[in-house]
Amino acid sequence: MSGIEMKRYSRHDVGLWMRKYDSIVIGGGLLGCFALRSLARYRVRAALFETREDICTGISRANTAIVYAGYDNKPGSLKSAMCVSASQSFQKLCRELGVRYSPCGSLMICFGERGERVLQRKFGNGKSNGVRGLALLSREQVLELEPNLRSDVYSGLYAPDSGTVIPWELGQAAAENALNNGGEILLNSRVAGIQRADGGYCVMTEGARFFTRAVINCAGLSADSVSEMIYAPSVRINRSSGSYYILDTKTRGFIRHVIFHEPEEKGKGLTLVPTVSGNILIGPTESPASDDGFAVSLSDLRQLRKLVCEVIPSLPLEHIIRSFGAIRPNPVAVGSESKSIHDFCIQESASNFISLIGVKTPGLTCADQLGRYTAERVASHLGADINTEFSPIRQAPIQIDKLSSANRKRLVDSDPRYGRIVCRCRGITEGEIISAIRRMPGAVTIDGVKRRTGTCSGRCQGSFCTQRIIELLARELGSDVSGIPKDGAGSYIVRKAGARNGI
Ligand SMILES: Cc1cc2nc3c(=O)[nH]c(=O)nc-3n(C[C@H](O)[C@H](O)[C@H](O)COP(=O)(O)OP(=O)(O)OC[C@H]3O[C@@H](n4cnc5c(N)ncnc54)[C@H](O)[C@@H]3O)c2cc1C
Repeated sequence: MSGIEMKRYSRHDVGLWMRKYDSIVIGGGLLGCFALRSLARYRVRAALFETREDICTGISRANTAIVYAGYDNKPGSLKSAMCVSASQSFQKLCRELGVRYSPCGSLMICFGERGERVLQRKFGNGKSNGVRGLALLSREQVLELEPNLRSDVYSGLYAPDSGTVIPWELGQAAAENALNNGGEILLNSRVAGIQRADGGYCVMTEGARFFTRAVINCAGLSADSVSEMIYAPSVRINRSSGSYYILDTKTRGFIRHVIFHEPEEKGKGLTLVPTVSGNILIGPTESPASDDGFAVSLSDLRQLRKLVCEVIPSLPLEHIIRSFGAIRPNPVAVGSESKSIHDFCIQESASNFISLIGVKTPGLTCADQLGRYTAERVASHLGADINTEFSPIRQAPIQIDKLSSANRKRLVDSDPRYGRIVCRCRGITEGEIISAIRRMPGAVTIDGVKRRTGTCSGRCQGSFCTQRIIELLARELGSDVSGIPKDGAGSYIVRKAGARNGI
């Protein structure tokens, strides 16, 4: 129990509550956004509650961005079934949602016999799981695909159905599509307690109470404590950390595939991702959880540099533009804390209360599958009909650099804001930023604009455009510039005139 007094609410109490839902989704990460979108496929009134001022600010914003082909997972597991079907339909999903996807394929490589055995085991797994086009490659074949790898690479495992996506763009698109199909999103709404009520649950935020007939708990790092607001603990989350580097787009083309390195010694190898935006992502490491949330670890970053020298020595590390930290939610069964749960942990404490606890890799790949699974369970509990008006299509926002010069000219003639460049590194215009603020759910922070448009993610990391973005946010939101946070409450950049430190 969470310490909240247990009380069963009656129909009379329920009648007094402001809003009633058929289903409430807790948490606005990738899993919550896709659960809400999947609920919109049924005739249900559904809402998503998110603590923060924006969606996709948790694990979904700090991960490796890979769509996995599905050869890592044990044959017969839910994870492998979902991952294989997800990777084979990912391009279609991204087309529906107007999300950029790079189907670049992946290459797992090794430098000796131990690694080779791992590759062969994964090849066998992949075959049993139904992964398409898997191939074991010789050194020459590997170097033909990735000529910049260390030349004594031993062998490789190629998977064409792998790729990379921008995780928060995917979550944003799913949320927008859910809203367009009748879903609701309540931001700044932390679920602080849940109690049983006749026919469902009373969900409490700091300022209000809501009735719902079903709950889908997608609270990420807090999914265990949300579940324990009402049910006895059975799975807990142990956290661990990871660190990453990002290289500038000047390195575009240096690698062509997602590269996984299987080391000869025990420990974690290197992962390299040629991102959709043209950067190279390096990481993650694995180390004990840091107290500072999403902080990076210096020793982990040193480890990454060392691995780069061993695997791809000519990678120009002078083009590193950023590092960032990630947190892994490792699910463990209560009572056997030393044992990790390897499959997806979908806890159905009751047929109308489903929790996704500690969903790590490949949670991004399988977000749509997990959303459909949970929504189906809830819809069947509610006896809900299919929503025949559901449209899976989301209109992508304008990206000026994707337009032909004729279309760009036409757009700028009709709306000159698309002619005013704000982000010099990426050529992002005032029009694109305003659209990111006005679309629902819209950006309210500097990082919210970054996640939607790519501002502040180029070589200057916001040195030139942050001030202009703050001004645009302030103007659009009717706020003072000192009220615009970088990322979450309290992270203000501009100080009120006359204010001193600590005031
Ligand atoms: C290091 C790392 C690398 C990964 N790489 C990959 C990869 O390459 N490919 C892949 O397929 N998968 C990958 N994954 C997995 C994938 O990123 C996750 O499965 C996915 O992002 C999980 O999203 P989520 O919605 O569960 O969590 P989150 O994104 O953390 O969302 C949970 C949300 O719940 C909100 N919340 C919490 N408590 C409450 C409350 N009480 N009330 C309201 N809201 C609440 C939080 O504010 C948060 O926004 C990776 C994971 C990690 C950790």
